[in-house]
Amino acid sequence: MKIPAKSVTSPKKFIIGKGLLANINEYIKDFGDNAYVICDEFILDRAKVEAGKSFEEGGNKATFEKFNYECTQKEIDRNRRLAREAGANIIVGIGGGKTLDTAKSTAYYEKLPVVIFPTIASTDAPCTALAVIYNEGGSFDRYLYLPSNPDIVLADTEILAAAPARFFAAGIGDALTTYFEARACYRANGDNLILLKPSTTGLAIARACYETVLENGVKAMQAVKQKISTAAVEDTIEATIYMSGVGAEAGGLAAAHAIHNGMTAVPSLHRVQHGEKVTFGLLAQLVLENAPKEELETVINFIKAVGLPLTLKDLGVEEFVESEWRQVAEDACAEGDTMGNMPFAVSPDDVYNAIVAANAIAESYHD
Ligand SMILES: [Zn+2]
Repeated sequence: MKIPAKSVTSPKKFIIGKGLLANINEYIKDFGDNAYVICDEFILDRAKVEAGKSFEEGGNKATFEKFNYECTQKEIDRNRRLAREAGANIIVGIGGGKTLDTAKSTAYYEKLPVVIFPTIASTDAPCTALAVIYNEGGSFDRYLYLPSNPDIVLADTEILAAAPARFFAAGIGDALTTYFEARACYRANGDNLILLKPSTTGLAIARACYETVLENGVKAMQAVKQKISTAAVEDTIEATIYMSGVGAEAGGLAAAHAIHNGMTAVPSLHRVQHGEKVTFGLLAQLVLENAPKEELETVINFIKAVGLPLTLKDLGVEEFVESEWRQVAEDACAEGDTMGNMPFAVSPDDVYNAIVAANAIAESYHD
């Protein structure tokens, strides 16, 4: 029988600020002196120059390798081989989610420390002990549950603020949801992301995440649209990348992410960002919970103010096909998904009705 222990898990170090790429050796030198860097194509030349100089000036070695677009077992094995040939003792990932997952996986199999350097702030995945592996064709293969979180996560605010604003907003959506799911999971004494019980610390970090994005999200979006970083951008990134990741891992997920998972099967939503779908999942969760009107209004007004999609139409659903959304509701209640972390029993019928009602409420607030 499993002991119902609680947990808080986190990267060993989370560092946020300007100019981290050009000073990377300073932050990672205590973990290794021969880095193997898996890097997205768009930033490879810049990384070779800026990070390369930092490693060189610190007297350390670095090998840079372009990421091949998909986090597959084949790509992980290719990087493992190259990292060994280079004699690397630390793995660094610089790029989007798939690049970072490849770095996490390569480091895990080679039993080396890993440094995560995200270039977009679209989800809270960088800090988590999880990688998503895909098949060669791009379909989902499996989750790789890692025994620990990344050793270091470096959030370079200038690079993250320069990424497309839509990605930044999606990250705010993922972070907006964290508190409500952790609150539900805590009330239910459900399972958090490492399948232990939600801790008070996890819930507190999730609440701080919500307060931080409410205070800073709109100000941050204005700056990011100009591709500049401000204090509000920095606080928002701390929430979207660190607080949301750690808050969710320790506090647990609930209906919003379960509904998101169901929504991945809807063809017209394939190009929609994770955080955008999760935001709609949150509205449906608030309907399921019959959340106070004031809370619902705060959330809806915030979604509008940061420019996230509010209604299903905003998400690109031109025609509401009942059978598709019945399936979403069914999938959201699948055995083992996080709907089981709601503090009351939820049926597919309840979820379907919550989706329809959430969309009608969203429509009524639409400009
Ligand atoms: Zn998420």
